[in-house]
Amino acid sequence: MEIPVNVKMRVYKFGNKAADGNSKMKNLLGGKGANLAEMSAIGIPVPPGFTITTEVCTEYNLLGKDAIVEMIKEEVETSIFNIENLMGTSFGDKENPLLVSVRSGARVSMPGMMDTVLNLGLNDEVVLGLAKKTNNELFAWDSYRRFIQMYGGVVLGMKPESKEDIDPFEEIMEHLKEKRGIKLDTEFTVQDLKDLVYDFKDAVKKRTGHDFPTNPWDQLWGAVIAVFNSWKGDRAVYYRKMHGYPADWGTAVNVQAMVYGNMGNNSGTGVCFTRDAGTGEDVFNGEYLINAQGEDVVAGTRTPQQITKLGSMRWAELAKVDEEDRLKNYPSLEELMPKIYSELNGYQEKLEIHYKDMQDMEFTIQDGKLWILQTRNGKRTGAAMVKIAMDMFKQGLITEKEALLRIEPSKLDELLHPVFDPKALSNAKVIAQGLPASPGAATGQIVFFADEANKYKYTILARIETSPEDLEGMNIARGILTARGGMTSHAAVVARGMGKCCISGAGALKINYKTRTLKVDDKVYHEGDWISLNGSTGNIIEGKVATSEPELSGEFAELMKLSDKYATMQVRTNADTPNDAKIARSFGAQGIGLTRTEHMFFEVDRIKAMREMILSDTVIGRKHALEILLPMQRADFEGIFEAMQGLPVTVRLLDPPLHEFVPHQLETQRSLAEDMHITLEAVKIKVAELEEFNPMLGHRGCRLGITYPEITEMQTRAVIEAALNLKERGITAKPEIMVPLIGTLTEFESQKAVIEETANKVFEERNDSIAYSIGTMIEIPRAALIANKIAEHADFFSFGTNDLTQMAFGYSRDDASKFLPIYLEKGILKVDPFEVLDQEGIGQLVEMATERGRSVKPNLKVGICGEHGGDPSSVEFCYRTGLNYVSCSPYRVPIARLASAQAAIKATL
Ligand code: PEP
Ligand code: MG
Repeated sequence: MEIPVNVKMRVYKFGNKAADGNSKMKNLLGGKGANLAEMSAIGIPVPPGFTITTEVCTEYNLLGKDAIVEMIKEEVETSIFNIENLMGTSFGDKENPLLVSVRSGARVSMPGMMDTVLNLGLNDEVVLGLAKKTNNELFAWDSYRRFIQMYGGVVLGMKPESKEDIDPFEEIMEHLKEKRGIKLDTEFTVQDLKDLVYDFKDAVKKRTGHDFPTNPWDQLWGAVIAVFNSWKGDRAVYYRKMHGYPADWGTAVNVQAMVYGNMGNNSGTGVCFTRDAGTGEDVFNGEYLINAQGEDVVAGTRTPQQITKLGSMRWAELAKVDEEDRLKNYPSLEELMPKIYSELNGYQEKLEIHYKDMQDMEFTIQDGKLWILQTRNGKRTGAAMVKIAMDMFKQGLITEKEALLRIEPSKLDELLHPVFDPKALSNAKVIAQGLPASPGAATGQIVFFADEANKYKYTILARIETSPEDLEGMNIARGILTARGGMTSHAAVVARGMGKCCISGAGALKINYKTRTLKVDDKVYHEGDWISLNGSTGNIIEGKVATSEPELSGEFAELMKLSDKYATMQVRTNADTPNDAKIARSFGAQGIGLTRTEHMFFEVDRIKAMREMILSDTVIGRKHALEILLPMQRADFEGIFEAMQGLPVTVRLLDPPLHEFVPHQLETQRSLAEDMHITLEAVKIKVAELEEFNPMLGHRGCRLGITYPEITEMQTRAVIEAALNLKERGITAKPEIMVPLIGTLTEFESQKAVIEETANKVFEERNDSIAYSIGTMIEIPRAALIANKIAEHADFFSFGTNDLTQMAFGYSRDDASKFLPIYLEKGILKVDPFEVLDQEGIGQLVEMATERGRSVKPNLKVGICGEHGGDPSSVEFCYRTGLNYVSCSPYRVPIARLASAQAAIKATL
């Protein structure tokens, strides 16, 4: 028989300072599996186990359960045997049983999105062995009831039937508690737990029609397959979509020897972070519970204690717990188990240095022995992301370039949202306080159910505790508030990952889902009432609180300075008002890449003159209306030029279809008729005349300036006069006049002639001049094709990738929302091409036009001003294509600056 070489490994073992895999194998072993392997190899005490690869998940999706079990059976059995050897226990044994955990683990962490089963391997006989071996009947039966509960939910589908229902197993437990007159799970006796196990199994039989599986191997395969299935579950699918992770990654399955934190008061379990995930502060922190299992800490059903003494003191201050009470009832691990704490502290230092990033670790203490269950790069807020990267760079852990590459550009967005106005805050009425789980400022109307998070425009989702099912609603809500749970509860971890303001563990709140109310002392707040959350202090505030603009300061400002050291491609902004220009300047914009002049005409006092201009039949009538608009437009430009203080400002001539400006409502039409001294009928006829079948392809862009040159004249005059006025005041203005939507050279030439003629006229009138340039947008594919011809006459190009995408894809910008969501869902397109530049197709037009333009004018200035200018991957593309600048909305300027620096750094790697 021939022995096959290079047989594909589908199961990777780890444990006892050895491992088949390592941390670089995340794609194959998932993040968790790869890290378990790595930890084991560097001498961290992880319970032994094995990882079934993500490829098996994909194979399972194709081949189904039977084929997969057949395929990996032998490897899994060998790996279980390895755990048995290392732990000195035996799977399914009645005297000395091995129990295992079965967990998911995709290549990126998706907290709570997939399923886990703990205590697997128990049945009516094994539980007796476990009780005997540990000499702890209560522990054994408690583990057994937890196992049935978890396995029932995850593998057998025993879930609540409606949103108002509670978990079917919880319901049984509540029933028993009521009957026995007890409040806590820890008050159950052995007999209670035995009864619960019996009732749980009964409930399973009634609902599923099958007995609860007793054979440990059957249990194991059931759990493995359930974890694979959870990759396709609603929560995971939503999470993947939100983060853009492809469906074909699959999840790995990690099977590991169970270690117990619930074996008595010498045992415990916890979660810890090497730095603060909310603020980024360099302090070791976390939470633990004595005599508990992992899910007790994250589920938020018990209030956990702090790991460090410092954290405990801070917590006590917030929770208004006095020192005596704290020491007696909530001591830190540092105080309660100093030896274990010091060992844990050593591992956290070792792991952070090893991975060179903030770690989020889980641990269990079993009867005085510390086990590390997992480590991963911790999720963090935008603020923490920036602080941690900058601190690690200063501490010499990572280089300057590494620090810059660590930052996820789009996550900077969180730092650019408004914050509570300090004055408004000092007058605010604080109704209660919880834990500052995720910083930020949120004001909204209360809702109690995640699927109602869009009931009002701004909502605060108030829950007793959140669960992974609530993910979508948490994302929609402005802020999240929970009555239970600590800093590592589901709500807190997920909110930090989303950069969403969250207060957890606000114990003073009595939330009632049935009456949809939230009670604090005697005061009742109803669904729809306004409240505000200060995620940085944990204060819950009655009513709305005013907000103010964020600032670039501290580490954020340092990061931006560092970005500018590496960025070679500039970042400009799209700004239509002096205020926008000022904000963008404060965020570091190096010029304006697009001023859409039409936005200035929509203001109340101007729209009238604009309409008169459009509805006029004669040049004289139009000129008269334009004369009214001229001083207003000139003042706008003066304001913008002044705000930009000598930086270049690209002003685009009027672009949108005129139809957008005329009144469509009878009342407005009537008053316009009066103002213009014409009949209502005449107005109606004119409005009807302006109607177009495809306005986006109709009478717009340079076509307006060509049919009505007086508009171009007025706009040019406004620009040049504004610049001259500033010159008189000693301020330099650098206007760049831009012609929109050209498809032929003659279009550009015709507009250029009007601009030059008008500018020269103004120079003559004023007996003075300024430097200015004339360029064009490249947003029609034909313009990209003849870019070399255009470049002979244009001073600069700016890619209008909104229109370029519209016209090259043939997707109407105004109608694409009807089909794009379905395209994304069906995978016809991976991303919305109006948000992320389609490098494969539209990118070619950009590259080609740049190349052709520069073939005749090597120094041709080229930029981009479509929405893509603020999207990090598109910014990187623009850098690679050799663009001089990207231009984006003011709030995206810091994101684009960083993306520009990252692109330059990546090019050197
Ligand atoms: C564009 O088309 O990309 C552009 C910037 O212009 P507008 O969005 O105003 O059409
Ligand atoms: Mg356009």
